[in-house]
Amino acid sequence: MRIGILRETRDHETRVAGTPETVKKYVTAGHEVLVEPGAGLAAHFTDEAYTAAGAKLAASAQCLDAELILKVRAPSPEEISKIKSGTVVVGMLDPFDSEGINALNAAGITAFALEAAPRITRAQSLDVLSSQANLAGYKAVLLAAHYYGRMFPMMMTAAGTLKAARAVVLGAGVAGLQAIATAKRLGAVVEASDVRPAAKEQIESLGGKFIDVPFETDEEREIAKGVGGYARPMPASWMARQAVLVAERCKQADIVITTALIPGRPAPTLVSAETVFGMKPGSVIVDLAVERGGNCPLSVKGEVVEHHGVKLVGLTNLPGMVATDASALYSRNLMDFLKLIIDKDAKLAINHEDEIVQACLMCANGEVKRKN
Ligand code: NAD
Repeated sequence: MRIGILRETRDHETRVAGTPETVKKYVTAGHEVLVEPGAGLAAHFTDEAYTAAGAKLAASAQCLDAELILKVRAPSPEEISKIKSGTVVVGMLDPFDSEGINALNAAGITAFALEAAPRITRAQSLDVLSSQANLAGYKAVLLAAHYYGRMFPMMMTAAGTLKAARAVVLGAGVAGLQAIATAKRLGAVVEASDVRPAAKEQIESLGGKFIDVPFETDEEREIAKGVGGYARPMPASWMARQAVLVAERCKQADIVITTALIPGRPAPTLVSAETVFGMKPGSVIVDLAVERGGNCPLSVKGEVVEHHGVKLVGLTNLPGMVATDASALYSRNLMDFLKLIIDKDAKLAINHEDEIVQACLMCANGEVKRKN
């Protein structure tokens, strides 16, 4: 099969959907791989590395003419206009963007959005949300360290002792747990909160202290379990009690990393403006949820702003800041997914019975299939 790997067109997207490593495997499996010149440059993969792996360099129009197109983000309207009906596109296509999915469908594209894969054991190797969130959690802490005017670890020096930074991590999913681990490794004292009761043990196993917001009703306890591993919006009563505790912990903190998300909904507000004004000057908040509206109403998408001496880091696409590793993991995720839609003769053979395929399929044959 002919596979096209394009240079991403979205602003500030540095990742690429195929690396020389995965390209080599596709070629060995019998595929013809077309790579747009410069596709991997922002992730430090040269055109020569792709050709050495067996790819052919081809203009974007030719890559878009392939039977299977691998993307990081959804194709632009201009790209969509050049993709012929029946082409398969696989990428992080944003399953909740109904307009975007409708545009792919109108062009007759068979589109798979890997963010929609179920959180089951078999899907772990193709779980793009996890592979990218893990890097985002790490990078969030490094950004915090960069914008923080002090040190993370406790240091005893001849000129006196420096206190360890206190970090609060809100949301302990994949990104949050990596943020806890990274902040600990840098020497911070870490506390963390999550609505899911299972998070307590995970936070503690990384050396963090669990910020416990006890449940007061069966309804709260039931909703907190979430669905399919994801959180659900908690009742206002629980959120109010959490806000009080978070405000208290944030007042003591130097670093706050927020990662709380609820699929298909705006991010919950966890750090109010009032809480920010109660924090110490010099503290840093990194809001990883900023693309979904933010966990703090004062964070601004794509910017670093300051209020009352507190820096709010709203930079986006943190995995793109470690583009080489992010592309390597993402490309392997894609390669694993392709095993479900390509047979051993390198021909398209979509297994529609497979629950992962069913969940990721957004549209095919002019019909929108997504279930969100
Ligand atoms: P996510 O990015 O959707 O959300 C981040 C975290 O925010 C979640 O832990 C969520 O519970 C939390 N959150 C939501 N509302 C909150 C609130 N009001 N206060 C505090 N925290 C709040 O989640 P994710 O990182 O994608 O992970 C979701 C779950 O899936 C986790 O349990 C993770 O361990 C699990 N997971 C399972 C597999 C697998 O088994 N294959 C793979 C990856 C992740």
